[in-house]
Amino acid sequence: MPRTLDPEFRRALAARIRYCNEMGIYDFYRRPLGAPEEAASSTSENAGTASGQSAVAVAVIEAQPQLSAIQPESSEEMMRSAAAVVVPPTVEENMFEAIAVKPEQGVSDPVKALKIVREDLGDCTRCPLHKQGRKQIVFGVGNPKAELMFVGEGPGADEDEQGEPFVGRAGQLLNNMIKAMGLQRRQVYIANIVKCRPPGNRTPEREECDTCSPFLMRQIAVIKPKVIVALGAVAAKTMLAMSASMAQLRGRFYDFKPAGVRSNDPNWQGCKLAVTYHPAFLLRDPRQKGEAWKDLQMVMKELGLKAAAKGNA
Ligand code: URA
Repeated sequence: MPRTLDPEFRRALAARIRYCNEMGIYDFYRRPLGAPEEAASSTSENAGTASGQSAVAVAVIEAQPQLSAIQPESSEEMMRSAAAVVVPPTVEENMFEAIAVKPEQGVSDPVKALKIVREDLGDCTRCPLHKQGRKQIVFGVGNPKAELMFVGEGPGADEDEQGEPFVGRAGQLLNNMIKAMGLQRRQVYIANIVKCRPPGNRTPEREECDTCSPFLMRQIAVIKPKVIVALGAVAAKTMLAMSASMAQLRGRFYDFKPAGVRSNDPNWQGCKLAVTYHPAFLLRDPRQKGEAWKDLQMVMKELGLKAAAKGNA
């Protein structure tokens, strides 16, 4: 039996959960394995689900009646695709980790809460990257109460060596971008989609991103930024659970809520997410820096930031 979800299904499920979260639905519950048929709700029976189906899919279907009152077209689509999915029961354990109440949730001090997330990550062996030459896990760095967060793709050689994101050449450029925005590096929080270096700096696989990003979601829920800047296509596509070109993704804000986690602050209803070019791409094609600056100016306006005076950036 596979221990991980089919990546396509996982992506669709992440998008579905995010959708539910956006609708204000956070509480999912699982039907115990081997529960008698009559314990299943009529909703899931109506949806034609097989017994032994993934509890996640069941939970999504059971959230559906609430959704149908709000958005009939979307819920119809949900019903159809959720009902069509049959997942081996062993997979439930994995997926429910992503939507269960997290141990840091009741902890108001973000430093302590982030420590709990880091401890939970442990000496992670959840994806193949742990045995592909990583020296250490690169968790994230910066202000635990940052209003602005940057999310990159994954550590490179320098980051793997030093245990801190964006410390190599791309990191120098990111530092300059941050300074140009009138901020200092220590004022923002910086993390990556995957926390271990992919060998030879290859692009992380979708499954590696899907396995690692729940920890990023927990970091975001603790930090509660006002704005997240996704650096490059991997970060953007993973966080938005959508596939589109950078040209399509840039130039606007998205409403973002970290999927599968709830912040302990009921007043934090998520944040805005902007997409810009990855600094490593800008090093290869500096002509695009002007475009990236436009993205950052949009973010600065949102945060009420003034550009650094010339010479200070
Ligand atoms: N590139 C990334 O995406 N992240 C880093 O931390 C460094 C380079």
